[in-house]
Amino acid sequence: MKNAYLSDLIASLEARDPNQPEFLQAAREVLESLEPVLERRADLVAAGVLERIVEPERTIIFRVSWVDDQGKTRVNRGFRVQFNSAIGPYKGGLRLHPSVNLSVIKFLGFEQIFKNALTTLPMGGGKGGSDFDPKGKSDGEIMRFCQSFMTELSKHIGQFTDVPAGDIGVGGREIGFLFGQYKRLRNEVVGVLTGKGLTYGGSLARTEATGYGLCYFTREMLRDVGQSFQGKTVVISGSGNVAIYAAEKTAQLGGKVVALSDSAGYIYAPDGIDLALVKQLKEVERGRISEYVKRTTGASYHEGCAGIWNLKCDIALPCATQNELDLDGAKALVRNGVIAVAEGANMPTRPDAVKYLLDNKVLFGPGKAANAGGVATSGLEMSQNSLRLSWTFEEVDKRLDDIMSSIYKAAAEAAAEYGTPGNLVAGANIAGFLKVAEAMKAQGIAY
Ligand code: NDP
Repeated sequence: MKNAYLSDLIASLEARDPNQPEFLQAAREVLESLEPVLERRADLVAAGVLERIVEPERTIIFRVSWVDDQGKTRVNRGFRVQFNSAIGPYKGGLRLHPSVNLSVIKFLGFEQIFKNALTTLPMGGGKGGSDFDPKGKSDGEIMRFCQSFMTELSKHIGQFTDVPAGDIGVGGREIGFLFGQYKRLRNEVVGVLTGKGLTYGGSLARTEATGYGLCYFTREMLRDVGQSFQGKTVVISGSGNVAIYAAEKTAQLGGKVVALSDSAGYIYAPDGIDLALVKQLKEVERGRISEYVKRTTGASYHEGCAGIWNLKCDIALPCATQNELDLDGAKALVRNGVIAVAEGANMPTRPDAVKYLLDNKVLFGPGKAANAGGVATSGLEMSQNSLRLSWTFEEVDKRLDDIMSSIYKAAAEAAAEYGTPGNLVAGANIAGFLKVAEAMKAQGIAY
C-alpha cells in the first residue's frame, strides 16, 4: 500500500491488538480499499474518522453462569461490542459457538457497520455472543443459558440503543427465550430484538431474508454480464439458516443446488438436493447433514467440509463461517469454471482466495453487501414494530429485493467511481464507509 497514513494506522492496530487475527483481517481489508477515498477526502483524515471507526464505542464482557440438566454450574463468557452508532442504534446478531472470542465479535461488529450502512436503513453496527456451545444441549439448558445471558445484556440494550438479532447458533428458539427474559426484567414489550416469532412481533420473510437476499444480489451480479441462475449448478456450504434459504431461492430462480455441508462434512447430490428433507433434518430434528444420505438415494456424504469447493459448479455460495474458503478452494473453483462466488457467511473467503478469484475475473460478492438482506429485513421488522403493523410476506420480500438491488448498484458504482470497476469488495467498503464517515464528521469528535 502506498498511503503512509493507512499503513501506520494498520501497524498501530496490529500493535494494539496482536491477538485479534479475525478483527485485524477485517480491518485491513476495509482500510486498504479506502486508499483512493482518502486521496480525495483529506477532511475525513483531519476529522480522525479512521482512527475512530476502528475502535468500538463500547465493549461489554460478562460472566454467564447457568445450571445444566445434572444440576452442575457452568460458566461461559458473554460479549457485546457496540461498535458504531453514527447512523443509528447498534444493530447486529448474537453468535453462540465455542470459537467465539473478542476478536471474532470485533470482526463481526466492524463488518456490520458498513453492511448496515449499505442497507440504506438507519442502523449502527454491533455484535455479540458467547463461547457457549448449543450442540447437544437440551431445550431447558438452552433456555437457562439464554435467560442468564439476557439478565446482563438487558442492562446495555434497548429499542433505541442496541437491537441484537440471531447469528450462528441463535435462531427462533433462542430469540424467544432472550425476548421473554428481557420482557420479564424490564416490564416492557418493545422491539428490542429482531428475528422474533410471528406471534410476538416478528416479521414475515425474516427467516428467509439472508439466503434470499444473497440470491437477489447474485442475480444482479449475473445480470450485469448477461447471465442468470437459470440452468446453473450451485454449490452452497453450510446447512443452517442462510444456506437453507439460499438453496430455496436458488431453486426458485432456476438453479440446481448439488451440495450442502456442516462442520463435519458435505453431501453431494448431482441431480439436486431434496430441500424438504434438509429442512426436516436441520430445522426440525436439529441433526447432522450426514443423516441426509441415510434417508435418500442418489447422494453421497464426504468427511471434511473443505472438499466441497472441489465440486464442479457455476456458482458457489459460502454460507457457513469465516475463512472456510481458502486459496486451494478458490483455485479448484476457477479450474472447474466457476463464474460467480457470493458470500452468505461473514468473511468466509480468505484474503488470498478473494484476490485469486478477482484476478481470475470471477464475479465476487463480498459478505458485507451480499448477505446484508438479513439485517435489512431486521430493519424492516423494527419499522413494523414501531408502526404496530405487520406487512405481508410479499411486501417484505419485495422491499428486500429492492434493497439488495440498490446495494449491488451502490457497490458497483462506488467501485467504478474510485478506479476499481467490477471490484465489489472495494465498492462495498467505500460506499458503506462514506455514509458512516459523513455522519461521524457531522457529529463532532466526542460523543
Ligand atoms: P446457523 O447456525 O444456522 O448455521 C451455521 C452453519 O455453518 C451450520 O451448517 C454449521 O455447521 C456451519 N458451521 C458453523 N461453524 C462452522 C465451522 N467452524 N466450520 C464449518 N462449518 C461451520 O448460522 P447462520 O446460517 O445464521 O449463519 C451462517 C453464516 O452467515 C455466519 O457467518 C453468519 O455470521 C452469517 N450471517 C447470518 C445472517 C443471518 O441472518 N442468520 C445474516 C448475515 C450473515 P454445524 O451445524 O456443524 O456447526
